[in-house]
Amino acid sequence: MRGEDLRVSDDALVELDGDVPLGPTTDCHVVRTNPRGLGFLTVTVALDLTADPIDLTAALVDIPSVSEDEQAIADAIEAALRAQAPWLEIVRLGNNVLARTNLGRPTRVVFAGHLDTVPVNDNLPSRRTDGVLHGLGTVDMKGGDAVMLHLAATVAEPTHDLTFLFYECEEIEAVRNGLGRVERELPDWMAGDLAVVCEPSNGVVEAGCQGTMRVELRTSGVRAHTARGWMGVNAIHALGAALAVLTAYESRVVDIDGCTYREGLQAVHISGGVSGNVVPDAAALRVNFRFAPDRSVEQAEAYLREVFAGFDLTVVDAAAGALPGLNAPAAKSLIAAAGGQPLAKLGWTDVARFAALGIPAVNYGPGDPLLAHTQQENVPVEQITRCATVLRELITG
Ligand SMILES: [Zn+2]
Repeated sequence: MRGEDLRVSDDALVELDGDVPLGPTTDCHVVRTNPRGLGFLTVTVALDLTADPIDLTAALVDIPSVSEDEQAIADAIEAALRAQAPWLEIVRLGNNVLARTNLGRPTRVVFAGHLDTVPVNDNLPSRRTDGVLHGLGTVDMKGGDAVMLHLAATVAEPTHDLTFLFYECEEIEAVRNGLGRVERELPDWMAGDLAVVCEPSNGVVEAGCQGTMRVELRTSGVRAHTARGWMGVNAIHALGAALAVLTAYESRVVDIDGCTYREGLQAVHISGGVSGNVVPDAAALRVNFRFAPDRSVEQAEAYLREVFAGFDLTVVDAAAGALPGLNAPAAKSLIAAAGGQPLAKLGWTDVARFAALGIPAVNYGPGDPLLAHTQQENVPVEQITRCATVLRELITG
């Protein structure tokens, strides 16, 4: 069911004010009219947040929510939270739904989950086989969202204050990221002593994340006819020294709070050349550096300037990494509840947003991240159950 407004007459409003037939895992009712005038209705899927988080995951998967089309799922979540968790303070910001307790507890745990998915690829609606739930978003990341919603509606007296951030547009360009908007417009909603981003992590605590920086190395030369090549200076040849550095590069491996980070330095683009008979006078090489979170962006840049000394180097873009922060008390209790050895997160995730605010942040959620964005996304349902159990222990223990 898509979240488009239904244009109806006043008479139709009466007709529609009841159940609208939908798929097998959801039912539907009209929850509000458009405040700007009669004739528009928003149809919202009813979610049972107290249901088994596995069923709730299936119900969320069955509400398509490709990036920039999250209204239907955000409406459903907002309506369900308002009805089923009346003790929560709830704010709607675009298609971000924010909910929190205000119990005056000494600590606060923030849970974050994006609502959007990558485009549909013939993998909806959800289907279940032998303890596995299949479908778009089962891994990335409606299983995590379902666990968050279930906890929000079933734990009224947590031992920490809780914040739940359901946000839009994580899968597209960073400037549209809903969590970024929350950070800019409602920064106090980001505050806490531990942030748990419920992205798929195979049910293992993944901590921190590596930073990323792209730089461009430019070389210049002198054009000449290739028949008299000695009259020119070849800018492409001048990149040879940089390529040699990359070929010889050995990853630095660093252990932080028991998590192992492995850095990476890769050429990702190369350009140059004028025509088939001209010594080129300009060339450029782009390099991506994935750096462990014990380096700041400035230190990463300084390292690259040292490695590529003598080259004209420009930073194209960069994002800071996030230290694992596993020594924070709340993080320790999560690790104890989850069991096992925490792993380093190598990619950049929204965990880094919290880390940049000085909040210890981890990924913890059901699903194998390697299956994210694939057509055959699927999650063993026991991972959803386990994640709900572990996080319940964290917030009630
Ligand atoms: Zn995701």
